[in-house]
Amino acid sequence: MDDCIFCKIVKGEIPSNKAYEDDKVLAFYDLEPQAPVHILIIPKEHIKSAAEITEENSAIVAHIFEVAAKLAKEKQLDGGFRIVNNAGDDAGQSVKHLHFHLLGGRTFGWPAG
Ligand code: AMP
Repeated sequence: MDDCIFCKIVKGEIPSNKAYEDDKVLAFYDLEPQAPVHILIIPKEHIKSAAEITEENSAIVAHIFEVAAKLAKEKQLDGGFRIVNNAGDDAGQSVKHLHFHLLGGRTFGWPAG
């Protein structure tokens, strides 16, 4: 996707502060952190949102959660953490490339927003 900022980050056309990378996913620090630890985990493949997850591509979501658990351990979020996915305009998804927010280092209220 030519006009997708997260695809540009994957391609290295826009800089990011990387936390993890492998052949399928990239994790980088959010520009506007909402918690002491705020990392975005994205598939390298362009998937618009969680609404586009199918039987064919759902394995990437499992992989993203493996990476989230690994990062949470690495960042010593032993007291807990939150994983957030905003899907679509009503949920406030501002970047239309599937991403999961890994948030930690503070306590969180519920329900959100
Ligand atoms: P959402 O509102 O769920 O779509 O989340 C998009 C997130 O991407 C926001 O938390 C932004 O702060 C973050 N963001 C946007 N552009 C960048 C960027 N170039 N580098 C890091 N984070 C970004």
